[in-house]
Amino acid sequence: MSSSRLIDLHTHSTASDGTDSPALLVEKAAAAGIAVLGLTDHDTTAGWAEAAERLPSSMSLITGAEFSCVYFDGTRRISLHLLGYLFDPDDAMLQSERARLREDRRSRARRMVDNMAADGIDISWEQVNDLAGGGTVGRPHLARALILSGVVPDIDTAFREVLSSRAGYYVRKADTDVFAAIAMVRSAGGLPVFAHPLARRRGPVVDDEVVARMAAAGLVGLEIDHPDQDDRDRAHASRLADELNLIGTGSSDYHGSNKPTGLAVNTTSEAALEALLALPTARRPIGALA
Ligand code: AMP
Ligand code: ZN
Ligand code: FE
Ligand code: FE
Repeated sequence: MSSSRLIDLHTHSTASDGTDSPALLVEKAAAAGIAVLGLTDHDTTAGWAEAAERLPSSMSLITGAEFSCVYFDGTRRISLHLLGYLFDPDDAMLQSERARLREDRRSRARRMVDNMAADGIDISWEQVNDLAGGGTVGRPHLARALILSGVVPDIDTAFREVLSSRAGYYVRKADTDVFAAIAMVRSAGGLPVFAHPLARRRGPVVDDEVVARMAAAGLVGLEIDHPDQDDRDRAHASRLADELNLIGTGSSDYHGSNKPTGLAVNTTSEAALEALLALPTARRPIGALA
């Protein structure tokens, strides 16, 4: 029975760029048969309390966040995402880094709006800010503003033609150095897992040697099954995880209607969850199997 539990360790709510409130997200997850849910909003823990409060009795919640990071290889800045699980949300260093990233995301989105305006694409920062509803601002909010203003027909076109780093309006975020981020998550008692390490569709990815250095720096897991990674990527990530003694996870990266991905389209195995939970952490899962 326990081997068939659905475990989805990477989802977003309205606390960042998802479209479901934390309460609705946990409700939908329970309805989808998910037993263990990871809530990993970008650069914030603001959704944890509501998700915990409204957690259906059948479910367990793994609190987390997804941190925007960068690796500089000497020539190129490669953007990468680090999931952190079960860290202490009150840890001062991690808390101030999250605040810095959120503030940078706001000014960056504002500058992207300005860049578009200068080119006759008329969306307003007020509209984008309203769409973000006080949560972490991201390009998905810009995409929605572009759709509502009739500039593009859908999210995909918004990203391809306007919001991609190649389109000319893009402004880079002041992301955290990935090795510093790993150290911060660890020192806050959390578990750092490298999100979608081979999602090339989003831009350049780091090579195996960098992942090895991340592992040496305290990384504990690699996301293997993810909608943006094809079978070859998954096989590669899986081999790498074995080689480096990293825990392989799987998840949907659900964003509500901001992305076509459904809840639990990719999941984590019971064994991987057990391996994660065997490690010492500042927080324990909330609910059913805590
Ligand atoms: P940001 O963190 O503000 O740069 O925005 C990146 C977010 O946009 C990612 O977390 C994805 O959720 C989303 N995203 C990136 N590319 C696409 C795409 N082609 N279609 C829909 N969402 C995307
Ligand atoms: Zn997102
Ligand atoms: Fe991500
Ligand atoms: Fe994500």
